Amino acid sequence: MSPTLRKTVVKILLPFATSWVARQERKIMRDGSELSAEEKDWARGVGVHDVDRIRIAYQRVVPMPFSSLARVVSYFKKCPISPIGLAAHYGIYLAEDCRSDPSLLVHELTHVAQYERLGGIRGFLAQYLDQWLRDGYWESQMETEARAAAVPYNRPPGS
Ligand SMILES: [Zn+2]
Repeated sequence: MSPTLRKTVVKILLPFATSWVARQERKIMRDGSELSAEEKDWARGVGVHDVDRIRIAYQRVVPMPFSSLARVVSYFKKCPISPIGLAAHYGIYLAEDCRSDPSLLVHELTHVAQYERLGGIRGFLAQYLDQWLRDGYWESQMETEARAAAVPYNRPPGS
């Protein structure tokens, strides 16, 4: 995809993505819970400033945008692509059955720090979508940063 086309696609997706994320954040602010003292330390550790503002909502299924499209993609690729976590500005969704693994929360907390750094939802998404289209989800710099920050918090399953 050429840089010009990429710019255009980001421009088209941005308003939808921004309002979707803002809506999720409002829901999590309403239903979610505050971080524990230890979790706030993790948040500070990955560079979040306003750690008191963060809320977490545990969900059986973590919502994602374009969910019907995602189902079609996962059918053809024969792999599940439902996420286990998602950061919507200061709101974090985590999958219920992943509570015991702190690295997932630290991954999402790193995204919260990125939202702060990039000036909020729109700034974050403009950058995130651009990297995602250019480098792919796995290789994007923002995902690489979040994965690297979470490594020290990895726990073997069941521990
Ligand atoms: Zn991520």
